[in-house]
Amino acid sequence: MNRHDPSVAHVAHGLHLPRQGKKREELKKLMEEARRDDADWRHGKTAGYVFYAGEDILEVAQEAYLMFFSENGLGLKAFPSLKRFETEVVAMIARLLHGDQAIGNMTSGGTESLLLTVKTARDRARVEHPHITEPAIVLPVTAHPAFNKAAHYFGLKVIRTPVREDFRADVSALEAAITENTVLVVGSAPDYSYGVIDPISDLAAIAQERKIYFHVDACMGGFLLPFLEKLGYAIPPFDFRVPGVTSISADIHKYGFGAKGASTLLYRDASIHKYQGFDFQDWPTGLYSSPTIAGTRPGGAIAAAWAVMHYLGEEGYLKLAEKIMCTTTALIQGINQIPELEVWGKPDMSLFAYGSRTLDIYAVADGMSARGWFVNRQMVPPGIHLTVTPAHEPIIDSYLRDLTIVTCEVAQGKLQGQGTPVTYN
Ligand SMILES: *Cc1c(COP(=O)(O)O)cnc(C)c1O
Repeated sequence: MNRHDPSVAHVAHGLHLPRQGKKREELKKLMEEARRDDADWRHGKTAGYVFYAGEDILEVAQEAYLMFFSENGLGLKAFPSLKRFETEVVAMIARLLHGDQAIGNMTSGGTESLLLTVKTARDRARVEHPHITEPAIVLPVTAHPAFNKAAHYFGLKVIRTPVREDFRADVSALEAAITENTVLVVGSAPDYSYGVIDPISDLAAIAQERKIYFHVDACMGGFLLPFLEKLGYAIPPFDFRVPGVTSISADIHKYGFGAKGASTLLYRDASIHKYQGFDFQDWPTGLYSSPTIAGTRPGGAIAAAWAVMHYLGEEGYLKLAEKIMCTTTALIQGINQIPELEVWGKPDMSLFAYGSRTLDIYAVADGMSARGWFVNRQMVPPGIHLTVTPAHEPIIDSYLRDLTIVTCEVAQGKLQGQGTPVTYN
């Protein structure tokens, strides 16, 4: 059951496949027209969805994607190039996350990485904790919905536990929710909603003591936190250096700046990775072996990840990390200077939410939308969410100017909220 608008499922009654094909130039024109109302990510107007770090990086990813547009990551024997790219991408991120024995795969995105995590944890428990008949996941309320999606698909229960006043996981509440049936405990580095890192060391210790699988969701942080640490930012330990961390997810299509359709899932060692794959041979063709959830996998996304990581290198990522953090700091300071507004908590990285204790923040959101910003709203507490990228550096001043004016208009009662629903997408 879902509440999706049918248009999301592409129901357009009366439309049929055109009898005759269209000319390529005409198609291009039609698609340019179709995208006329799309959010302008190149000029920093979006608050999420797109991670743009400049034309050169985009072109490197695009060229690599097109070069391997037709190749299929399901057939690594046919395409040793892709096998090499995937192996090297996994090795590079594993090193950044201090996984000396780490092993893993590329997936199509954070969601697939988390679906696989849940499947691996469930299958490991079946073998190593066979008394468990009703497997459950315990995680902070701030953990990504993909864990519930996975639990829904794979038949697990989910217990979401409260966070502290600083929005980080309440360790004792989480500990109290663990039962005999718990097969997976999760912490985020950082979480999406408030951009804060959970107390990973404490959570990992609790899980380890009980021999429970512990996953760090670093889908957002995996490709940024290692560089922030190198730049001298105080980043609490979150990676394989923390004992008890079983696996880590890190998205390349976010702060890795690869093409969409690229994430990584890394396990501490091979003894856990063995529960991830799926092999089947009871059909006419023989052994079908697939490491991840997808069957056919786009060679383009794998190649683009490899190409961008080699194009940027550590120096490139460090430069981008600096730019992202300076932009974040400027935006946070600017927002906090507007008397009615306040950034929630102390974000550890480059994503955060802000709101107001005195006025209707959704009226502010409506006002910003009217000025051409694509605004992401948040529900608890009522707020506006921003994921900062290098594309936002040039718009710091214009964003803050518009926000100052809109907030003033709302405070004076000149702008009312439109009652726009609060949804993630
Ligand atoms: C984006 C995100 C995910 C899911 O990743 P997708 O690539 O959108 O599937 C999971 N966890 C966190 C913390 C994220 O920010």
